[in-house]
Amino acid sequence: MYCFGYYRYIWCSMRQFYFFVLVMALAFTSLNAQQPYVVVLGVAQDGGYPHIGCKKICCQNAWKQDSLRRYVVSLAIVDPSTKRWWLFEATPDIKFQLEYFNQLTSNQFSYLPQGVFLTHAHIGHYAGLMQLGKEALNSKNVKAYCMPRMANYLNSNGPWSQLVSLKNIDIDTLEENNPINLSDSVSVIPFQVPHRDEYSETVGYKMNVGSKLFLFIPDINKWNVWKQSIVDEVKKVDYAFIDATFYDENELPGVRMESVPHPFVQETIKLFENETNDLKSKIRLIHFNHTNPLLYNPSKVKQLKEQGFSTATQGDIYK
Ligand SMILES: [Zn+2]
Ligand SMILES: [Zn+2]
Ligand SMILES: [Zn+2]
Repeated sequence: MYCFGYYRYIWCSMRQFYFFVLVMALAFTSLNAQQPYVVVLGVAQDGGYPHIGCKKICCQNAWKQDSLRRYVVSLAIVDPSTKRWWLFEATPDIKFQLEYFNQLTSNQFSYLPQGVFLTHAHIGHYAGLMQLGKEALNSKNVKAYCMPRMANYLNSNGPWSQLVSLKNIDIDTLEENNPINLSDSVSVIPFQVPHRDEYSETVGYKMNVGSKLFLFIPDINKWNVWKQSIVDEVKKVDYAFIDATFYDENELPGVRMESVPHPFVQETIKLFENETNDLKSKIRLIHFNHTNPLLYNPSKVKQLKEQGFSTATQGDIYK
């Protein structure tokens, strides 16, 4: 670049500077495009939204309008640098969620994930595995990551045991607090949480995704029966997707709420009320029962936001 005179010199230097900024911006953008990220594929409780048999106000509009429907709770971790991705939970909505994932990521990844991480044996969290079996997709060796009791349950009970014997799935047994390294920039750690463990233990996951840490606890009994403090655990991460099955104790008239223990949204709000807004803003409430007004009542969502909290939104991408 030849420049003559003072003004030409300044002009030339500016051009070089802008060129440098442009190159750096492009380099940063392409580096950023390679960073792993998390996608929200579903936010509802096991029965989905709308809910079977429900004619009440909570589900009325969702039966009429597709756009109001929500899939059962599920996340995906995506690693563009290795072109791989992993699914969290195999829900009854799995076939729609696989399609949805491909749409959200512009079909840049394999149709099936490299593996599926399961939290426990309640229908919303593993029953979607049936779609991988001989009667449907007949997949080959999809890794199913789960804890020992869950692995034993799948190995010993049909129809799940057939998925194992036909090698539709390949069970990889997890160990509590033992990280699974999925790539240079993605790792996952299971930890046990108290829940109604009829067929399996229940875990949550900590996910290390690039430079961000995520917490995922879709199902848990009350916070105070967990050996960890949820407030401390949220402090350690960037985003926390946590159980918000029910809004409050009046939600299921005629049902003893102790028989289906979960932290009420009201209780979670109370627990965090003296914490900073910064901490509250890390929380993404998820796993909504169809009766939870956060699914169908915008004024409750607004009120929640005013208190500093957020709901997980289906389709959101955390880059
Ligand atoms: Zn559940
Ligand atoms: Zn309903
Ligand atoms: Zn459950």
